[in-house]
Order: sequence, then structure tokens, then C-alpha cells
Amino acid sequence: MVKENPTPSRSKKPLITMKFGGTSVGNAERMKNVADIVADCSQRAEVAVVVSAMGGVTDMLIRAANEASQGDRENWKNVRKELAHRHREVADQLLQAAEQATVLPQLTAAITDFENLCSGFSLVREVTPRAMDTLSSLGELMSAHLVAAILRSRGTAAEAVDATELIVTDDHFGNATPYFDETNVKTVKRLAGIRRRGAIPVITGFRGATREGACTTLGRGGSDYSGTIVGAALDADEVWIWTDVDGVLTTDPRLVPEARILPEISYREAIELSFFGAKVLHPKTIQPVMKKKIPVWIKNSFNPTCPGTCIVPASTNTHKGVKAITSVSKADLITITAKESLSFAQLAAKAFASLSVDDTATLMVTQSSADNVLCFAVHDADLKRVKAQLEKTFELEMLHDDRVSIEVMPHVAIVVAIGENMEGTPGISGRMFASLGRHGINIIAIAQGSSELSISFAIKAPDVKEAVKAVHEEFKLQGAEKQ
Ligand code: ADP
Ligand code: ASP
Ligand code: MG
Repeated sequence: MVKENPTPSRSKKPLITMKFGGTSVGNAERMKNVADIVADCSQRAEVAVVVSAMGGVTDMLIRAANEASQGDRENWKNVRKELAHRHREVADQLLQAAEQATVLPQLTAAITDFENLCSGFSLVREVTPRAMDTLSSLGELMSAHLVAAILRSRGTAAEAVDATELIVTDDHFGNATPYFDETNVKTVKRLAGIRRRGAIPVITGFRGATREGACTTLGRGGSDYSGTIVGAALDADEVWIWTDVDGVLTTDPRLVPEARILPEISYREAIELSFFGAKVLHPKTIQPVMKKKIPVWIKNSFNPTCPGTCIVPASTNTHKGVKAITSVSKADLITITAKESLSFAQLAAKAFASLSVDDTATLMVTQSSADNVLCFAVHDADLKRVKAQLEKTFELEMLHDDRVSIEVMPHVAIVVAIGENMEGTPGISGRMFASLGRHGINIIAIAQGSSELSISFAIKAPDVKEAVKAVHEEFKLQGAEKQ
């Protein structure tokens, strides 16, 4: 697609898009730290910034909306107070009077929107997905205004930008998908003036808008995705995702505190890790930068001198075997069994067509063609919907002589070992399962993709921490880095 508007003549400096997550902008001290990082980097590079809401704010907004929609008229007023307090406190502590005069009305406008929406929800006892998106992303709007003003207060030109003016999405509220061509054109055009003025755009993460202008969100944790969408649109040289850990680690440090940093991982490994629950990256983060092969760095805003992890198109690391372990701790296994009158192909075709209605992700799939059994795992959050959909799909077969039965095994966790170079390395599954056996952990199901990028197994949810620890230890991932 040809870019419509002339891009501001690109300075010699590289262009870096930086996204800051909720903990990185969690209070006045953290926001000041963000401004320091951005101002420092802007000496050497042109910077575009994407910000999340202050930590905990999105949860607070969603909870308030749900309570209001259940008829509650009081709780959201407390949330309103807390929202106002947290954001105004930052303005009080870090902004000069002139900047306060600009920002306080912007914060007030967002809080008034919050108030009006919640009051409407409590009146009609309903919150539509569309209204929820407008409300749940107000935190991003407030933090973008604050971060831009903090930068200006310390002498760095910056302008807040609402991503509803940049990112064009479909109308799948709550989990919208961008139309990339339109987004790229709009982003370049909208940011051209700001860049020409030499100012840093500070863009709201998480938000986008439909072609008609209705606010959408990109899914929980979606500001990472916003970071790479903007980075790709601007042809950035690099995207930096600032978070609260030193990079992508060998596993979730909340499960195994000894997890260590991976200096480099490939796009494929990052996609696999994030799909299987590594919260450090939104699962769609890598998608926008794939074509342009833009490197994505994961860095710690609490420890900015640590280089972090570089996510590259293809890893140069030749380390054989398992590189990282991840897990999804809230999953369910669904087993569909058919009698002979339905072939396995028919059973699988109908089951997956049913899942495709809502584009539901399966975490693992196993089959026994001989017994006409199909088994797959889904996120617990999807279970109710998937089960209802499957029962509708197989309604006739279930009525007629129990030709099909659907069983659910709840409280399951999926643990996944990941590494591009596992391919052709024999004995990995054996070691993995032996280590689980030694810990007395029973494996319910196993799956390995033919790409050999990952091996997954299902276990009982309460065993997840011990299982991840056991496999992590078995492959000595906590030791010094082996290249
Ligand atoms: P942010 O608010 O910056 O977007 P998140 O909380 O979404 O941060 O993601 C960072 C968190 O992801 C870390 O604090 C860590 O607990 C968790 N995490 C899970 N798996 C991994 C992993 N493999 N490497 C690094 N962090 C991980
Ligand atoms: N604030 C949003 C959330 O909490 C988006 C993000 O932080 O990435 O889901
Ligand atoms: Mg996140």
C-alpha cells in the first residue's frame, strides 16, 4: 500500500516505538521514571510512546461497570474517587502550574465520561460490549495526557494522541482486530504534524476505533499489540516494550523465581510463549512487525540499564532443546466421543466448525481415531460458551440414541515446553515425563506439534507450579545461559 501523506523527512536518528505497561506508569515516581527514559532516549533516537493505564486501573473500571450494570449505585462512586485521586496526585506532584491547567480539565473530562457511563449502566441494568470498551480504556486516555504533560514539564515537546484516531479495527468489541492498511495510513497521517514539530507523540494503548468511530479495545493486555501496530505503521527501526521484569524469562518468575533472562528469542518462540500464557506479551504482539522484520525488545523500566530480551525474526541461538516453559493454569479438557455411525472425520469437522463460530482458540488437541474420540483443551473463560455451542452442533446426535457424548474435565492446566531447536533433538519428551513422574504428577494428555516448536501436556491445575518447576529444573534452565 502506498503511503498517502508524505512522512516527515526521516531524521538520521533511528525511530523507536516504546510501550510502557501498567506498573511502569503505576504512580508519580514511575511516570517520572518513564519521562526520564523517554527524554534520555530521544537524544539518540526519534521516539513514539504508547502507554497503558496506571496499574490496576483497567480492572477497577471493568469492575465498576459490572457492578453498576447490576444496579449498584454506590460502588462506582468510590471508584470514581479513587480514579480522580490517583491521577490528580500525579498531576499535583509532577506538573508545573501551566501544565496542570491543561491536564486537569482533560482528566476531569475522562472522569465525567466514567460517571455518565456508569450512571447509565446502573439505570438500564446493562453494559454493552461497545460501551464497556469506551469505559475500560479511559485509563489509557488519562495516562497518555499525564505522560505527555510530564514530558513537557521537563522541557521535552510531547503531545497526547488518542489511538482511536490511529488504529482502525473491526467491531469485535473487547477483542478487536485492526485493518492494517487503513491503520497504517491513518497513523502516518495523524502523527506527521507532531513529528514535524519535533514533538514526541504519547499514544493511548489498548484502544482503537471502528470505521464509524466507535471506540474498541484490543483485548486485555492489548497495549503491547498497540505498541507494535504503531511501530509497524511508522516503519520503526525497533519496538521497545517496557515492563516490570528484565525481559522474557525461561518461565513465569511468579512460579519459579530462579527463572533467568533469555537474551534473544525468535518471533516463533515469542508467539508460542505468549499464546500459551506468558503474560509478558499479548499473544498478537509479534504479528504486526513480522513482515517488516522489526526487532522487539522487552525491557525493565525498573532496571533500564539491563539490555533485556531481543525478539528477532529468526534466532541465532543454537542451544539445543527446551528454551522456556510456560503454562495456562485455568483450562478445561473437552472430550467428544462418537458411535460408529459418525466417522472420526465427520466428528472432527463438526466439532471444529462449532469452535470456529466464535473463533475459539484450542490449547491442545488429541485424538483417537479408532475409538472415535476427540479431545481438546480450551481456556476456562471460553468453556461455557464452547460447551453450549457444541451441544447445539451435536443436538441431533445426542438426542438420537446417544450417538455423541460430550464430557468436560474441569480444573486442568496446560504446561508447554518451547524451543525452536527441539526439532530433531531426541529424548526431550522422555526427560520431561520422567521428571514429572519423579514428582508424582499424573499426565492427562500430551500433544506435540509437527514443527517440534513445542510439547504440551495437560495435568490437574493444582499441580501446575510443581510441574513447571520440575521441567524447568530438568532442563537446567535456571543455570547460566547456554548459547
Ligand atoms: P505490563 O503491565 O508491563 O504489560 P504484565 O504484567 O502484562 O506487564 O507482564 C509482565 C509480567 O509477565 C511479569 O511481571 C511476569 O510476572 C509475567 N510473566 C509470565 N511469564 C513470563 C516470562 N516467561 N517472562 C517474563 N515475564 C513473565
Ligand atoms: N490496560 C489494559 C489492560 O489492563 C491494556 C494493557 O495494560 O496492556 O488490559
Ligand atoms: Mg501486559
